[in-house]
Amino acid sequence: MVIDGRKIAEVFGEQIKERVIKIKKRGIDPHIALINVGDDPASKVYIAKKEKLTASVGISSTVYKFDDDVKENELAKLIEKLNLDEKVHAILLQSPLPKKFQFQKFVDLIDPRKDVDGLTVINQGKLFSGEPGVIPCTPQGVLHLIHSVQENIAGLHSVILGRSIIVGRPLAQLLLNANCTVTILHSYSHNMKSVCQTADILVSAMGKPLFIDGEFVKPGAIVIDVGVNRIEKNGLKKIVGDIVFDDVSKIAAALTPVPNGVGPMTVAYLMHNTLNLAHCH
Ligand code: NAP
Repeated sequence: MVIDGRKIAEVFGEQIKERVIKIKKRGIDPHIALINVGDDPASKVYIAKKEKLTASVGISSTVYKFDDDVKENELAKLIEKLNLDEKVHAILLQSPLPKKFQFQKFVDLIDPRKDVDGLTVINQGKLFSGEPGVIPCTPQGVLHLIHSVQENIAGLHSVILGRSIIVGRPLAQLLLNANCTVTILHSYSHNMKSVCQTADILVSAMGKPLFIDGEFVKPGAIVIDVGVNRIEKNGLKKIVGDIVFDDVSKIAAALTPVPNGVGPMTVAYLMHNTLNLAHCH
């Protein structure tokens, strides 16, 4: 079975639209600030998508673009200004930043109450300790997709490939909260294939094109492909995930495609989090 992330995100988007109508009736106009530094082509595409989709549900946005050579204090000043701006409910600093910037240092300048992707150390700590806070968008989207196949996942073995603060680590917390047994694999892990073969739920977030073939997958597993990799094949540029879709689809019970798997859910949860922050305003 193919898990159609685009369709699931569309249904979720309809609920978000309803919430936007309700919050606007209360006189609140939800607004997100999107900050893009440098000229990473993928980031430009993501920012444009986020701008368009938020507008489609009635959430307004402002995009702030900086060149690679922006001074650190200029970026810091913008974040401070947005923190104080009552009209701005959510701030997203698009990753990656150019190499000279330390991403976490700038994320931590964001007021945790406006930290829409839940990446400040305050929100990371809250998730880790089970306190209410902002939860990163992509892991929430991944969990939603898993639940679309199976509501009760308690006791299942989830294996996550990747331990970044954006995907792997927060997802591990969410799956623990759902009472899964959780294993995280990373670039120092041994016996990756045999560990993956024990996964009832396998999530790949490595950014390694077509790394996971059918041999990694337990028959009947739920497989989620977070990876977005730009490759060139026969002179054509294309986007692929970490997973060899055709191969794994013969073995897994359910599998997300790339594109139209996790990507649309990430944007849907960006809107969901923006609304939650606007509510708390
Ligand atoms: P990242 O920060 O580069 O982290 C990659 C993780 O994968 C690291 O933990 C790394 O291990 C691990 N890894 C890399 N190669 C490995 C290997 N050969 N074996 C085992 N582990 C390996 O990347 P990220 O920001 O989490 O993103 C991961 C992927 O997801 C990228 O393709 C990104 O574009 C995509 N993504 C998609 C969405 C979406 O909405 N669809 C959202 C976010 C990210 P170490 O920690 O040991 O280095």
